[in-house]
Amino acid sequence: TKTYNFCAGPAMIPEPVMKKAQAELINWNGLGTSVMEVSHRDKPFLALAKQAEIDLRELMNIPDNYHVFFMHGGGRAQFAAVVNNFLGEQGRALYLISGQWSQLAADEAKKLVPEEQIDTVSISNHQNKDETKSVTLPDFTGDVRQFRYLHYCPNETVDGIEIFDDIDSPWPIIADMSSNILSRDIDVSKFAVIYAGAQKNIGPSGLSIAIVREDMLQLPSLPQPTIFSYQAQLENNSMYNTPPTFAWYLAAEVFKWLKQIGGVSYIEKINRDKAELLYAAIDASDNFYNDVASQNRSLMNVTFHMKDKSKQAHFLTEAESHGLVALKGHRFVGGLRASIYNAMSMEGVNTLAQFIKRY
Ligand code: PLP
Repeated sequence: TKTYNFCAGPAMIPEPVMKKAQAELINWNGLGTSVMEVSHRDKPFLALAKQAEIDLRELMNIPDNYHVFFMHGGGRAQFAAVVNNFLGEQGRALYLISGQWSQLAADEAKKLVPEEQIDTVSISNHQNKDETKSVTLPDFTGDVRQFRYLHYCPNETVDGIEIFDDIDSPWPIIADMSSNILSRDIDVSKFAVIYAGAQKNIGPSGLSIAIVREDMLQLPSLPQPTIFSYQAQLENNSMYNTPPTFAWYLAAEVFKWLKQIGGVSYIEKINRDKAELLYAAIDASDNFYNDVASQNRSLMNVTFHMKDKSKQAHFLTEAESHGLVALKGHRFVGGLRASIYNAMSMEGVNTLAQFIKRY
């Protein structure tokens, strides 16, 4: 049986990319060495890095007044980086809480600056196990508070909650798009900063991408490890120190792949079809349910539960024997979860949907 991997992250990498990487593993670019073994400061790697940025800019339609940084440390490094780069000793920030990851981002911020500099507002009922989960966006009209930025997480990987509506914010918006970057068209110009850990729709873990509007670099920053300074990244073309070169290479290949198959609007259509198929199978089943309101159902992380929880272990074992792996929910929330990022085929989702129907 074919294996379909529904892991939330590190997640599947598109098969054609893996095959190309395998073929090039010990002889990249005709150099007779692996891409892992060459200097990031020599021409071949610099060309790769440049092309990766060009391709990402094209895929996301990133305006010229934004910098693109390839950094270390995944999503969580950016939790700290935004605080250190933008808050200084006085600045305040507002964190919208819609699930586990936005909460963790706010928790990290509160560790780095005095708590009174961080305001939080809950915008969902994700903690209430018995209710249908949904998000209500606050109305900030007339809000005179001074925040350096508003932070939120448009796709809550753990909870399966996605925010599709734009946030009408008087403050610059920072979005953690770790689990939905490149999954659907977004208007980058509505954001001051977009960041993402790579291990869902981009490539291997450890790499993070930060897309930073240039005026944000004027804000006073806190002393911090230089590798997390956006200014230092800018001055050094994301090569202040040795970057995660293999992850960068694979990310570059994923960008090429996505461009080649038709770009973000093309994959968005497939992602919508995949999610619709899977939610429909869950809704139609007598054994399973999803508890997220339809307008906030994630296209990337489909969370679901068994009505009879005692059957879950059996379901997971059976699924695995059919090649359907990594369906266990996050350790914080339990239940089940199928992550269906860009690399997951319609065929894989359909196989899971049929399995759910039959179970
Ligand atoms: N933010 C979101 C939305 C995530 O899903 C994750 C990881 O799954 C993170 C942040 C943390 O990423 P990392 O483990 O790369 O630090």
